[in-house]
Parts: sequence; C-alpha cells; structure tokens
Amino acid sequence: MPAPVSGKVCDRVLGPREELGQIGGVTFGRGRRDVAPVRRAAIIRQIEPPAQPLPGVHARPDSLLARHWHIGCSQIEAWAAKRFQVPDLAEHVGSAQWFRALGALIGMIAFSLMFWPTFAPLEAAPVISLDEAAQSEFRAQWIRPFAGGATHGRHFAASDAILRLSSAPERPTIQLSATIGENDTLSQMLQRAGVGTSDAGRVAALVANAVPLSDILPGTRFSISLGARSSPSDPRPLTTIEFRPRFDLGLVITRQGGGLALSRKAIAVDVTPLRVQGLVGSSLYRSARSAGAPPSAVQDYLHAIDQAIPFEDIGPNDTFDLVVSYKHAADGEGEAGNLLYAGILRAGQPPIHLMRWGPDGGFTSLADLTDTGQTETGLFGAPVAGRLTSGYGMRRHPILGYVRMHSGIDYAASWGSPIYAVTNGRVQFAGWHGGHGNYVRLDHGGGIGTGYGHMSRIAVAPGMTVHRGQIIGYVGSTGLSTGAHLHYEVYRGGQTVDPMSVRLVQRRQAVAPSQVAAFKARLQALLAVRPGALLGSAR
Ligand SMILES: [Zn+2]
Repeated sequence: MPAPVSGKVCDRVLGPREELGQIGGVTFGRGRRDVAPVRRAAIIRQIEPPAQPLPGVHARPDSLLARHWHIGCSQIEAWAAKRFQVPDLAEHVGSAQWFRALGALIGMIAFSLMFWPTFAPLEAAPVISLDEAAQSEFRAQWIRPFAGGATHGRHFAASDAILRLSSAPERPTIQLSATIGENDTLSQMLQRAGVGTSDAGRVAALVANAVPLSDILPGTRFSISLGARSSPSDPRPLTTIEFRPRFDLGLVITRQGGGLALSRKAIAVDVTPLRVQGLVGSSLYRSARSAGAPPSAVQDYLHAIDQAIPFEDIGPNDTFDLVVSYKHAADGEGEAGNLLYAGILRAGQPPIHLMRWGPDGGFTSLADLTDTGQTETGLFGAPVAGRLTSGYGMRRHPILGYVRMHSGIDYAASWGSPIYAVTNGRVQFAGWHGGHGNYVRLDHGGGIGTGYGHMSRIAVAPGMTVHRGQIIGYVGSTGLSTGAHLHYEVYRGGQTVDPMSVRLVQRRQAVAPSQVAAFKARLQALLAVRPGALLGSAR
C-alpha cells in the first residue's frame, strides 16, 4: 500500500505520451520491493524536465512559472522523502518501524471516520421550480384524461405532426334522444336529429294517422336509433323511433322489411287522486310542499283557505288536508293536475272542507251551497296587475298641487295592461268623464259600484253585462294624470268608500237539493282517498 506522500504530487508534469504508473520502464507502486522509498522519490525526480509541451492552462514548457513550479514540487518531494519515513507496509513486517506505520495508518483512518456523521449529500435547488400555473399547464397537456373522455385540456392548432385520417370507421348504429320544441314540427325535429328527408316524411305521416300532430306537446322526448348507412353521403336509415304523444299512449315505429311500420302501445293510467295531509308547523306552505304536494296545488290551496278563514287563525298544530287530481301511468310516470279539495282541521273548531265546484271552478263549502243568507266573500281582487301607489283619503294632488280628497286608489301599471271587472255587474257609464279621462263605471247591484279611470282605451259599452275577470279597458294616462296608472274607485250608496275596506257581500240563491246531494257525495268520495305523498317525479 502506498504511503501518504507519493509521486502523485507532481502528476501534472507527465507528458501526454507517458502513461501513468510507468515512466522509462520504471514501475511505480507495489511490485518493486527492491526499491526503497527514498530511491523511489529519486526516480520521480529523474524524469524532469519534460521534453514535450505541457498541457494545462497555466503551464507552458518555456514559461518561467511552469519551470519554477516543477522544480518546487520536486524539491518538496525530495524534502518529504528525507524528512518523513514512508514505510511500505509490505516490507519489514513486524519491525518497530512497521508497527509505527501501521499505527499511523489506523490513526489516519480513525481521524477521517470522525467526520463521517456530517457527511451528507449536498443540497441543490431543483432544475426547474413548478408554480401553480406551471403545474396546471402540465395537467392541461396530460394525455391521461382523454381516456375518460376528458372535457378539459388544451386545444392545439394543427401542425405538420397531425395527419388527417382519410376514413374512420363508423358506428353501426346511433342511439339518440331528441326533443320537439316550440314552433317546431315533427319532421323538422327528425331531420335535425339526422333522419333522412324521406324517412322523416314517412314517420310524420304514420304518426298523423295515430294522433293529431298538433297534440304532440313541445318538450316531448323521442328515442331514436339510426342504422348503418350504405355510403358516406347518405343519411343513416331510421331503425326505430319511440315516443309518448299522450300520457296514456306510446308509439313505436320500426323498420320492417323495406318500410316503416307503426305500433301503438296503450299505457294503463290510474286516476286515483292524491291526498296530502300533515301538521301545519311553522310554515303551511313549506309543510305542504315537504309532505309531497305539488307547488301549484299548494298555491291553490292557500288561496282557497284564505277565502274561508284568516291565516292568523291557523295554528302550528292544526292539520292541513288537500286532494289533487293525479294521473299515474303503468310505466311509472306521474302527472299532477288541479287541486280538488282543500281542508283544514283545527282543534276546538269545526273543520273546513272546501271543494272545487261549479262551472267557474271556484272553491265552495257545503255551507255556501245551503246557506241563502248574506255571505261575505272577502275583498274585491285587484282590477289590474300593478303596484298600489296611492291610497284612499286626503292627499296633495300631484297635478293640482293642493290637498284634496283622493276618492279611490291608484295602481301603477304599464301602458296598455288589461283592466278587469272585479266582480259581476252591468256597465253604467263608459266614456270621457272629465278628470277621470276615459272612465268606466260598473253597477254591481245592492248599491255597490266600481269606477276605473285614466284608461287608454275602453273595451265595453254602456248597458253591457260584464262578469268577474272580464277585460273592460286598458291602462292609460287620460284626464288629470301624470303617468300610466289605474284610478280605481268603489261606491256604496252613491258615495266613494275606501276600496281596501270593502268586503264583498253576496246574497246567495237556494241551490237545488240534487246539487247539494251531488256535492256531498263528491266530498265524501274525496275524503275517502287514502293519504299518501307524491312520490317520484310529477310532470
Ligand atoms: Zn287616483
């Protein structure tokens, strides 16, 4: 084993043609036991000066620095060879000098091992640092999401690396779903879905034989399957088309042989009404909705109950009860219809049973039918769809500028909005009426009348009979008016009263006993319906 100080110190001076370890036939290192360490240093010294140009950035052969550097190295080597005994542990094994050298070697190994725990890999900064934007850019360019039909990723412009396929294999069949829209026709919809013109015309003709095409409602879904086409320029031939033009009828058109054939599929429909019951709780609307009643039915229910009793009289522990007409098809489809019955059961109070009855479709109780006395049926409804802007009473007139009696109430509504008669009556006046502008006055009998002012157009003539909800004119700004609005008045005994305070009183006529019996029978039938929630989807 070579000793710590060796000829390596001046390796740099070796010329390119000399090989390491062999200079002029003299071998370095082990194998020359006859050469003592001192002699070895002398051998090294003998090889200088080199005859060839030196490699290296700092040393040229004729450079003064290079020559001095070389001589200096040789002198250090010679000095070290004399000063330090450099024993070869392969020689004089067992001598005192050998043991000293062994001890020195072990000591040096131990010394270097003392540094060991702190030897650690050097930490360096990563080659590139990925911030959030760079990472998302990487993700955008991943290929992997495409396997899952990725909807994200980056679109790249086509380049020379992209080759267009001359032809791609086509799917043998295509299944698709199409919906007929508003102002749409069946054959237009089919052609949009990819059905050929002749097939679409044939389907429309077949369907027209089964149901009137105008009966197919917008939003009806069609399941269409198209077959393989014979040439790429042809449309795909229709294989089957299936849809449901009516709640109780399904139609299937299939290709049989060369042509299309239609088959009908009657769907059994159960028309048992749906009854929803439950505790009122903190919100009657929310409780009825969460019990499974359809929203339109709950609205009708609240409207009907509102006419019978004030909402303040309904407590959280009272029970609501409503019956809705409902169609349930054998294939699971459901369709909710009108509210048929509205009831409320209150502790310590007689129950309220209201049922849709009569030609006007209003809600009536049995007492309404049998009672021939005066009945208060609540406030008049608003005569126009608008916002109440000015109440009844003394106020500063917006045009005249002084405080004056406002003999009615004002509704702000857009120009041309229809104005409805609040209840049945006869047209007493229709025409220009001073500050009222175009004005209509209705006589409802019993000393009650209503007036409607500032109309842009009058739709009735004096002497005509009008019924509740009939259009009598349109909103305008004629007469003393600052903008489009309806001035609405109520008269009692010839004097204006506050329209908001008037409750409509009607004297009922006796109803035929057969009508009362029919009402009772119908009510019993509805109350016999077993309560159950609306499950599944209501169309
Ligand atoms: Zn007014």
